[in-house]
Amino acid sequence: MTKKVTIAGVSANPGEKAYGVVKVPDLFADGQYLEIPFIIYNGANDGPRVHLQIAQHPNEVYALDGIRRVIGDLDPKNLSGVITFCLPNTVGFRFGLYYNRIITHDINRVLYGDPQGSVMERIVNAWWVNFVENKADYVIDFHGVPQETFVFYEAHGVSPDVPKEVNDKSERMAKLYSARVLKKETEAYGGGKSFRGACVDHGIPAIVPEVAVDGADISETGLRNILVDLGMIKGKIKLPEKQYILKWETDTKEALVVNQKAGFFKSNVKTGDLVKKGDKLGVIFNPRTLQEVETLISHRDGYVSSIQPFPVKSVKETIMQVDEILETIVNK
Ligand SMILES: [Zn+2]
Repeated sequence: MTKKVTIAGVSANPGEKAYGVVKVPDLFADGQYLEIPFIIYNGANDGPRVHLQIAQHPNEVYALDGIRRVIGDLDPKNLSGVITFCLPNTVGFRFGLYYNRIITHDINRVLYGDPQGSVMERIVNAWWVNFVENKADYVIDFHGVPQETFVFYEAHGVSPDVPKEVNDKSERMAKLYSARVLKKETEAYGGGKSFRGACVDHGIPAIVPEVAVDGADISETGLRNILVDLGMIKGKIKLPEKQYILKWETDTKEALVVNQKAGFFKSNVKTGDLVKKGDKLGVIFNPRTLQEVETLISHRDGYVSSIQPFPVKSVKETIMQVDEILETIVNK
C-alpha cells in the first residue's frame, strides 16, 4: 500500500513530488547550517524505494544530465515506488573542490558518519539516516571522470556478511546501467570500505557508476533501464551488444604498462581496445634523434581501460592500464 513519504519535515503523498533540504546545524563558525537538497518522487503505485546521489566527489558530475533526463520531469502518477535524489556534498559541490579545511579526506570513506562527530561525519550521517538506512531498497551513488564510463560493484563473497541476493541484485543493476565496461571488486573492500560498501553491508544493493565526460547518454539509458527492470516506470530495456566485466584491482601494478626508456610515446591502441599478450601497444621515440628506442608490448590479454594522455615520458612512467577481462556478456 502506498503511503506518505516524509524526509526532514518535507512530505510527499502518493502521486506527488516534493523538494526539500536536510539542514545540518552547528557545523560552521558562521552559524549557518549545511543544506543537503533533495527531491522526493512518491509514486502513485507500490514499488521499491531507490536512492540516487551524485557528486560526493565534487567534480564527478557527468551523470547529472542523464539523471535529469530520466527524473527531471517524471510525473509520480506514472511511478511505482519511491525515488529520492540528493546532492550529498554541497560544501564540495559549490566550489568543485575535493578537499578544503573541513573536507580533509575522502568523504566516500566516512561510511555511516556520526551525528556527534566531525563536520564530515555529521554530513555523511545526515544523508545516511535521511535517505539510506531503513529507507532505501537500492542505492546508486554516481561518481565519475574515468576515460570511459564504467560501473563498479562487488563480487559475491568479497564482504563476508553480504548475502548473495544483495550482490546479485547489485550485479544486475550494474549490467543494466548499459556501460560497455563493468568493474567487479574481487577483494575485501578494495581500497577501503566506501559508501557503497556500507550500503551492501546493510543489505541494500548498490552500484557506483563512474561516469566519463561523455557519459550522460549512457547514464540516461542506464538509469531508465534500472527503473524499468524494477517495475517502477514503463519502457524498454536497451543494452549494448557487448559488455565486459573487468577485474577491479586495488593494487593496479599488475595492470599497468610502464616504459623502460624515456622519450615521446605514440600509442597503437586506444581506450576500449581489446589486446592480446604480445600485442604492440605503442612506441617510445627519442625526441633528439627521432629514432624509436622502445616498443611497448602488452604483458597480458585484456582491455585497455585508460591511456595517460600526455605523451612526454620520463623513464618508468605509467603509460596505460590493461585490465583483466573476467567475462564477456553478449546481449541479444
Ligand atoms: Zn568518486
